[in-house]
Amino acid sequence: MSGLLGAAEIREIAARIGVNPTKKLGQNFVVDANTCRRIVKSADVLDTDIALEIGPGLGSLTLALLEVANEVIVVEIDERLAAELPNTVARHEFAAERLTVVTQDAMVVDNLPVAPTVLVANLPYNISVPVLLRFMEKFPTLRSGVVMVQSEVADRLVALPGSKNYGSPSVKATWWADMSSAGTVGRSIFWPVPNVDSSLVRFVRHEPAGDEALRLKTFAVIDAAFAQRRKMLRGALSELFGGSTAASEAITRAGVDPTSRGEALLLPEFIKIASQISL
Ligand code: SAM
Repeated sequence: MSGLLGAAEIREIAARIGVNPTKKLGQNFVVDANTCRRIVKSADVLDTDIALEIGPGLGSLTLALLEVANEVIVVEIDERLAAELPNTVARHEFAAERLTVVTQDAMVVDNLPVAPTVLVANLPYNISVPVLLRFMEKFPTLRSGVVMVQSEVADRLVALPGSKNYGSPSVKATWWADMSSAGTVGRSIFWPVPNVDSSLVRFVRHEPAGDEALRLKTFAVIDAAFAQRRKMLRGALSELFGGSTAASEAITRAGVDPTSRGEALLLPEFIKIASQISL
C-alpha cells in the first residue's frame, strides 16, 4: 500500500496494538495526510537529510518524512508504538533501512545512532519546551526544524521583548537558533481532538553565541531574571551576584540599566551580564 496514513488506518492500527491515546504522553495523532505533507514542506526537508522525529506515534508524519528525506530517525517512549512503526513503514512500501527507531524517553537521549540534520515533530505537549531546547543543545548537527506545539507555547517560543509572552524559553531558544512562526493547525486533524490550539514553530540554527561555560552562566541569569519578572534586574539578580549593590554594579558594567526588567532584554544583554560572573 503506497501513500500516507489515513484516519481509518490510524484507528485500525491503534486498536490492533491496543493503544488508547493518553493525555499523559500527549498522544494526539495527526489523521490528515495533507497536514503532514504541509509540515514536511514547511521544514524544507531535502533528499539528503537525515530527519529526526520525536514522538512518531502511529507514523503519520514519519511516512511524510520518508517521502522526502534520505533517512528518518525516530525517538518514541511508548514501546507498542515504537515496535509497530517498522511494520507500518513496510506496509507503505518504504525501505526498512531508511528508518531507525530509538525506543526511549526523549528527555534522556544523549546519543543517536546517526547524526540528524533536520528536526520535524509533533511534540508531546507536556514536555515540548524542554525537549526542544534539549535537542537543540545536544545535537548541533540539526541545522533547522519545524515543530508543532500548543499555540500558547509557540507564542512564547517566538516572543520578543515587551510582549507578555516573552520569557525564559524565548531567550534560551535564541542561544542556538532564530525562531519564527510557521502557521497554525486546526484541531480537527487530530485524533483524539485536543482541547488546545496548535501552531508550528520554525528554527534555523546560527553560530553559537558562546562556549558552554558562558551558556550555563547566561541561562542562570535568564532563569533568575524571569523567576521574578516584575522585579528590577538589580533585585532579581541579587542572589546570583551576592547582594543587590554588587548586582547593580555588575549590571551597570555590562552596559545594562539595573532598574530595567528581564522582559526588556535580548540575549546579547543577558550574555553581557553573565560575563560579569566570575567562577
Ligand atoms: N507524530 C505523531 C503524530 O503527529 O501523529 C504523534 C504525535 S503525539 C502529539 C506525541 C508522541 O510523542 C506520542 O507518540 C507519544 O507516545 C510520544 N511521547 C510522549 N512523551 C515522549 C517522550 N518523553 N519521549 C519520546 N516520545 C514521547
